[in-house]
Amino acid sequence: AMMNRKLLVAGNWKMHGSLAFVDEMMSALRQSLPDQPKYDVAVFPVYIHLYEVINNKPDSVLCGAQNLSEYDNGAVTGEVSAEMLQDLGCDMVLVGHSERRIKNNESNSEVAKKFAQALKFNLTPILCVGESSVQRQGDQTFDVVWDQINTVIEHIGMESLSQGVIAYEPVWAIGTGETASAEQAQEVHQFIRSQLALNDDTIARRIRILYGGSCKGSNAYELFSMPDVDGGLIGGASLTAKDFMAICQQA
Ligand code: PGA
Repeated sequence: AMMNRKLLVAGNWKMHGSLAFVDEMMSALRQSLPDQPKYDVAVFPVYIHLYEVINNKPDSVLCGAQNLSEYDNGAVTGEVSAEMLQDLGCDMVLVGHSERRIKNNESNSEVAKKFAQALKFNLTPILCVGESSVQRQGDQTFDVVWDQINTVIEHIGMESLSQGVIAYEPVWAIGTGETASAEQAQEVHQFIRSQLALNDDTIARRIRILYGGSCKGSNAYELFSMPDVDGGLIGGASLTAKDFMAICQQA
């Protein structure tokens, strides 16, 4: 990463954990993390564990939800609004994670609406983008990724990205143990930044672009050393303090 961007190491716990797990992780992070790390650290528990994280986390750790509703408060059974996440004390929220795009059929425009809701309530949205293995084999990686980002720009404007983070997560690398090589990641990150620069050079230079997909202690340094990789969105390796700290130490 370049010096002007603070790295972000974000742990996406997915549908894992328990209240006891939250308490253990928070005390482990309190013991292991420096008081004022030179990078940002965030964790993303399931909704019903957010309150426990927020009440037990060290000050230096940010907390976010894995999803949010595209709607304002109202008759939307089973969903959670941006306003509620803000009220609880969340800092961030994931939008458009590939598991939601695939398993819940979230479209680019739905994701853009969620991104807008996050901004409306001062949450930092992390826009997750990435191609499937079939799309990569068909040379569609750049088109797919740019379409996912550009839908947000078309819906709510380039300026909205200045408040957000992008996570490039090739679907074929998520939970598979098959990490994108540092060069493969850099190629896409650089593409994203250069496309953004066509719209707004300042935002392009400032926005953080995280890599996600089987990132772990043993490959984090190489990935984070790439000029356009500004941290990681970590799934499996965020579920133990030891694995998560091994990545933080490379930031
Ligand atoms: P993984 O997940 O690190 O387990 O591959 C990353 C993600 O889905 O955010």
